[in-house]
Amino acid sequence: MNAHAPVTAFENEHGLEIRQERGQRAVFCGLTGIVWLHRKIQDAFFLVVGSRTCAHLIQSAAGVMIFAEPRFATAIMDERDLAGLADMNDELDAVVGRLVARRPEIKLLFLVGSCPSEVIKLDLSRAAQRLSRSLAPDVRVLSYSGSGIETTFTQGEDACLASLVPEMPAEAANAETSLLVVGALADVVEDQFARIFSEMGIGPVRFLPARRAGAMPPVGENTRYLLAQPFLADTARALEERGATRLAAPFPLGAEGTTGWLKAAAEAFGVSAGRFEAATAPGLRRAEQALAPYRAMLAQRRIFFFPDSQLEIPLARFLSREMGAELVEVGTPYLHRGHLDREMALLPRGTRIVEGQSLDDQMDRCRQARPDLTVCGLGLANPLEAEGLATKWSIELLFTPIQGYDQAGDLAELFARPLVRRTRLEV
Ligand code: SF4
Repeated sequence: MNAHAPVTAFENEHGLEIRQERGQRAVFCGLTGIVWLHRKIQDAFFLVVGSRTCAHLIQSAAGVMIFAEPRFATAIMDERDLAGLADMNDELDAVVGRLVARRPEIKLLFLVGSCPSEVIKLDLSRAAQRLSRSLAPDVRVLSYSGSGIETTFTQGEDACLASLVPEMPAEAANAETSLLVVGALADVVEDQFARIFSEMGIGPVRFLPARRAGAMPPVGENTRYLLAQPFLADTARALEERGATRLAAPFPLGAEGTTGWLKAAAEAFGVSAGRFEAATAPGLRRAEQALAPYRAMLAQRRIFFFPDSQLEIPLARFLSREMGAELVEVGTPYLHRGHLDREMALLPRGTRIVEGQSLDDQMDRCRQARPDLTVCGLGLANPLEAEGLATKWSIELLFTPIQGYDQAGDLAELFARPLVRRTRLEV
């Protein structure tokens, strides 16, 4: 009997070896996204309807951050709820009532579904509609699922943003063509991009999510959107259903990715080559200077990606093309062929991309390859470190501003740090 998971493998149009694996997975659930999303929409609150396990997960993921008044919490379902002995909807209404009375600054409340709420089939979208009606006009209530049954870690952001799309106002009739940047970015990164777009003469430029619940951008036929993150398949679909058009681009990671991403907007908005060059050259120069010292540390290092954040393919492209690293294997939970086409075209021919996961098989391959650096989730890092392999936690790539020219050096440093630490330990 073959104990290994079924595998299909083929070579794609870019000469990459694509394997699809199914089996045991080791990935966080979509609740994790709350840890970076709650910092983005400043008057939103995330209420997880879940168990003590869910509460622990978010607390430990957000563990290093101490908030006087955090903008997330868990409404814990106990055994009576799970056994159907209590009316969960009444209890939820009471919890939400107490929350908004105590926190009048909340303007947007997300009810976030979990594995337990899904198992007992608690209908959070109906609960959100009911609560929205009773709390209007002060608080808007939306829902999405962050459950581990339905989502992996970055898909929580996708589900959250997709739930916002129906709330976006329609653009005005005869609206001028606008640019929408989609995906949660650190405010500092957003400000840098806004400045570059303005120097190129592109406008209006808007961001989803907006920093305030009442300022969500309009959308319609004249909206051109750029994905800032590669894990937003449902959000993209929802935007297209409202008439928006995606600009095909690589993702703004590293100097090359950032230039390609900005260029996609420049081409769509008819920016001249001279103006594009003038707007991007200073940032590009700063990025190249910041990257140079890390190239010596990362060149020819063999890197192995476990599937986790869906950032793996753009990161692999950055490490291989700008840092000279060698890609042993690039795992990704899902491979959105359309959104990642520009990225895959830049990877070295023959790169092995593994979509999905069969944990044991992948661990075997990693052990056999003994890469210089393994990028993986928290759960795998400790065992691999114990076996003498240097690791990088993929979750750090979500918590750290890494997009754009001025963050390119920080991005390289994140990968160089475990190698430097290991060298010091060896010394
Ligand atoms: Fe665990 Fe599911 Fe709760 Fe995530 S949603 S913490 S996978 S029980």
